[in-house]
Amino acid sequence: MKFARFKKDNTIYQGIVTDAGIQQIEGDPYTNWSKTDKLFKLEEVELLVPFEPRHIIGIGANYVGNKAELPNELPEIPVFFYKPTSSVIATGEPIVIPDSIDEVKFESELAVVIGKRASNISEDEVTDYIFGYTVANDVTAPQFFREDGHWTVGKSFDTFTPIGPFVETELDPDKVVVKAYLNGEKKQDSETSLMIVSMRKMVAYLSKVMTLEAGDVILTGSPLGAVMMKAGDEIVCEIQEIGQLRNPVK
Ligand code: MG
Repeated sequence: MKFARFKKDNTIYQGIVTDAGIQQIEGDPYTNWSKTDKLFKLEEVELLVPFEPRHIIGIGANYVGNKAELPNELPEIPVFFYKPTSSVIATGEPIVIPDSIDEVKFESELAVVIGKRASNISEDEVTDYIFGYTVANDVTAPQFFREDGHWTVGKSFDTFTPIGPFVETELDPDKVVVKAYLNGEKKQDSETSLMIVSMRKMVAYLSKVMTLEAGDVILTGSPLGAVMMKAGDEIVCEIQEIGQLRNPVK
């Protein structure tokens, strides 16, 4: 099932995407919701970020180019970082390049949305705690990275975390392909099986550090091929089963 949040006539609604359009739902998508009889046409609404993110956690450099490059030994502590919720925008909204620089990098990623409190869970249990999956663009200004490994500033500018368009609850995260198109030209195209630290390992690890809650979202890293983009460009991040996250760059 595909969950959406959207705006129509200044009112915010939640819904599920069907062949006929977006069917409005009421209640809490994580726990208890029901359909209403109101149906909206997809082209008549403004899509919003499909859920309200609580914590946004990313993982650094997490893909290889092919399976032969997968390391035999995994890092004991993967490089995790936080992104602020103030950096989140929806599909269609512009990514704004900060004044002092000319370009920023896109990173198309599978994003995992936690559905209920998860503390100290094992890898086998992880999918029980996942609400669904969406697409994120982990926009990055490496010009603000520091050699000591301080990434926060370069990941945190307003508009640097497009998320959407929908949350898909029935997805096999091991069998999807993460793509990105810059001005229509394909730049990223990798199966999630090329992740170094698997999604399950990541979530289990994080749950041993911090209690994860519904609305927490984990960006699982970007495939090879991410490059810089500049004002006037359009970036589309895509996972076919979820949809296209499309943002102009300003
Ligand atoms: Mg990233």
